[in-house]
Amino acid sequence: MEYSAFNLSPQLLELAREAQKDVRPSFNKIEELEEYNGMKVLNAFIKNGITANHMNGSTGYGYGDIGRDALERVFADAFEAEDALVRHSFACGTHALTVALFGVLRPNDVLLSVTGTPYDTLQSVIGLTDSKSDEGSLKDFGIKYEQVELKDDKIDIEEACRKASCAKVAYFQRSRGYSLRDSFSVEEISKAAREIKKVNPDIIIMVDNCYGEFVEKHEPCSQGADLMIGSLIKNPGGGIAKTGGYIAGRHDLVELCSFRLSSPGTGREVGCSLDELRGMYLGFFMAPTVVASALKTAVFASRLFEKMGYNVTPKFDEDRHDIIQAICLNDPETLCKFCEGIQSGSPIDSTATPEPWDMPGYDSKVIMAAGAFTNGASIELSADAPMREPFAVYLQGGITYPAGKTGIMLAAEKILKYKEEKNI
Ligand SMILES: *Cc1c(COP(=O)(O)O)cnc(C)c1O
Repeated sequence: MEYSAFNLSPQLLELAREAQKDVRPSFNKIEELEEYNGMKVLNAFIKNGITANHMNGSTGYGYGDIGRDALERVFADAFEAEDALVRHSFACGTHALTVALFGVLRPNDVLLSVTGTPYDTLQSVIGLTDSKSDEGSLKDFGIKYEQVELKDDKIDIEEACRKASCAKVAYFQRSRGYSLRDSFSVEEISKAAREIKKVNPDIIIMVDNCYGEFVEKHEPCSQGADLMIGSLIKNPGGGIAKTGGYIAGRHDLVELCSFRLSSPGTGREVGCSLDELRGMYLGFFMAPTVVASALKTAVFASRLFEKMGYNVTPKFDEDRHDIIQAICLNDPETLCKFCEGIQSGSPIDSTATPEPWDMPGYDSKVIMAAGAFTNGASIELSADAPMREPFAVYLQGGITYPAGKTGIMLAAEKILKYKEEKNI
C-alpha cells in the first residue's frame, strides 16, 4: 500500500512497482557492499580506540587535538591508505583538490590529466579558462598542463604512457562529472596507473575520488593511487558532516598537502576542529549505509526512467563506480519538470521552484534541484543539469531510500502530467 498523500497516478504507481521488482538483484548486491564497507569503517573506529573524548573539539590553533588526529587515522585505515588529512576547513571538494595539486606540484612541473577534460570547477584551478585576471591558477605559477583524451570513453593507456615520462602528476577523475561517459572503476584506474608507473616510476597518481567513496569494496588508494581527494558533503560525510574534505594516500604527499593547507612549517599541527568532530565521525560511520541508499535511489531511477522511454546511463543492472545517474531528458522543458519534481519531494525547501542560473565556475547555465539539510550537499537527493544538449540530468544522493524513491516518483509524475497536458 502506497502512502496516498503524494497523489501519484495509478499509471506511475504501476511503473514504479514493476521497476522496484526489476531492481531486486541489484539491491542485493548493494546490500552486500554496504555490509562490507560498514564493517571496514567500524573496524577502523575500533582499531583506533575512539572514545567519547575524541568528539570534543578544540579552538584557536588546535595544537594537540587528539580527536582531529584520530579521525584522520580512522579515514586512512578505512580507506586502506597510509595517511589522511581530514578537515572541516576544506571549503569544498574543489578546495581540497586545489590544495592537493598545489601541495605536490612545483613550477615547470607537468600535470597530466589522463581522463580527458577535468570537472568544470577544476578548469580555472588549472588555468584552462581564458579568464584574463590573475587569480593564481597553476598556470600562473608556471605549472604546465597536458591532457589525454578518452578513447571510446575509456582511458587511452598507450597515449597516457607516451605523455607520462615528463609529467609529475597523472590525474584521474573517477566520477563522470557533467558528462555522459561512464565512471571509472577502481580496477580500471589501477590498471592504467600500473602501466603509467612502468614508464615513469616517480609519477604521482592522483585521483579525484568525488562521489566514488564506498561505491566499491576498495578505494583507489589501496590499489595503486598515491593520493585521492573528496568532499565531506558528498559520500564520506554520510549526510551529517556539515562541511569539509579529505586528502588520503601516501604519507609524504599528505604531509606536503598539509603545508599548503596551513603553512610551511606548521602543516597539519594547526587547524582547530571547533565543534565539527562529532558530525565528521558520525557521518563517516554512517557513510557506507547512506551511500547504499543513494545507490538504490539511482538504480530505481534508472529502471523507472528507462521504462518511461528515456536513455539512461548507467542502466539499472550495470556496475557502478560513483553514485551519479544520468538521464537524457531531450528537451529543456522536461529537464525543468524533472528538477521541479525532485525539489517538491525534498524535506527542506519543498516549496521552492528551481530555475536555470549562471553558476560561478560553470560555463553554461545550470539548473539544480536540492532541498537539503546541508547547503549544496549532493549526498542528499539532488539533481543538476547544465542547460545544453542532450538535456541530461545528473541525479545523485538520497540519504534514505524511501525519501529518495519518493523524489524520483514525483519527478516522473511531473513529467507524465506535463506530457499529458501538452498531448505529447
Ligand atoms: C563535486 C565534484 C568536485 C568538487 O566539487 P565541489 O562542488 O567543489 O565540492 C570535483 N570533481 C568531481 C568529479 C565532483 O563530482
